[in-house]
Amino acid sequence: MHSTTSVKIVEPGLTAVPAQQSRARQARLDLLERITEFVMKHDLNVTGLNLATIGTALSGANTALAKAFVAREISRQPIDQRWLDSVVRLDPESGDRRNELEDLMDRMELSLSRFAQTARDAVDTTSEHRGALGQEIEALAQIQPEGSPSVELERMLELSRTMFDRVCEVENAMARSQAESDQLRASLAEARTEADIDHLTDLPNRRAFERRLASMAEQAVAKDARLCVAILDVDHFKAVNDTHGHEAGDRVLQAVAALLKRHSSDRCFIARHGGEEFVLLFYGFDKDAAWRKLDGMRRQQAGKQLINRETNKSFGRITFSGGLVEVEDMDDAQQALARADAALYEAKAAGRDRIIAG
Ligand code: GH3
Ligand code: MG
Ligand code: MG
Repeated sequence: MHSTTSVKIVEPGLTAVPAQQSRARQARLDLLERITEFVMKHDLNVTGLNLATIGTALSGANTALAKAFVAREISRQPIDQRWLDSVVRLDPESGDRRNELEDLMDRMELSLSRFAQTARDAVDTTSEHRGALGQEIEALAQIQPEGSPSVELERMLELSRTMFDRVCEVENAMARSQAESDQLRASLAEARTEADIDHLTDLPNRRAFERRLASMAEQAVAKDARLCVAILDVDHFKAVNDTHGHEAGDRVLQAVAALLKRHSSDRCFIARHGGEEFVLLFYGFDKDAAWRKLDGMRRQQAGKQLINRETNKSFGRITFSGGLVEVEDMDDAQQALARADAALYEAKAAGRDRIIAG
């Protein structure tokens, strides 16, 4: 049989495939190759999010991302993990994806609470019916007709008793459903809390941070309070992994997180943003006060000697750099974070182990 397409490409060892399919396959292979090259060239992490971001930018599927990549290449600034993270942060599409998840959880919670209410109402109604039916049965059983008991009466009584038993079953089943839906709601609330925690460090994660940033920014405007935001990044962390291994690197991150955590409070929210980056919110602090607090944390960390307990070798001094800005009325919270990121770059460029207020 002849193919409808006039051109066929025969790959060695494969049967002929229509040209269109083959071109699509080749385009996919090319895209994969370009993604791989890009990741290797810029020494980026192989994560699902990275691959998806790079893929949508290189394929042009997300034009805003594609433009951001080109602009970065042209300006000859480094395309590294931090920059990529900041791009993803500002990309409305990835924001949409996060919001979808939030919406889904909200909807689930709403449906569950509606269901629990319906189940509760149903249990009340059925128990009322059961009560009424029970009384009717009793009254029916009292009727003593003259002579032999009527067959009709016997049957009615029997039927009523069966109905009564069924109503009891329904009532129990509804009560079980209600208990189950309560349990589900509790699990959902637990999953929500879980979803906000970074399990390596036990600090709140980026998701929790983003929500807190938005709510604190709103609160700061409403109450006319100052709000600062900072990003910290561990210095030369790659070298820690390279010298001591990834697991030891994890323990270093836990140690840094533990030090930071000691400073967290209602007015100082600290989260792990991802990798070796942490983010902080200082509510009710002006830029100078926030800088002093953050610099205190930096000095404390820099004054420590961490030892690898597996090998007894010293990690040397583990330091971090930070960028800090005050959230201003005119910028949205994400823009403030981008400015903090730019200040962090400055701190790195100026020699690391310092906090720069932008
Ligand atoms: P800089 O001072 O410029 O920040 O240098 P750096 O080496 O810290 O910067 P870079 O961002 O190139 O390297 C960060 C490394 O952190 C790369 C990645 O492998 C590692 N990393 C990211 N997340 C984790 C993690 O959860 N555990 C461990 N052990 N390493 C991680
Ligand atoms: Mg980093
Ligand atoms: Mg680093």
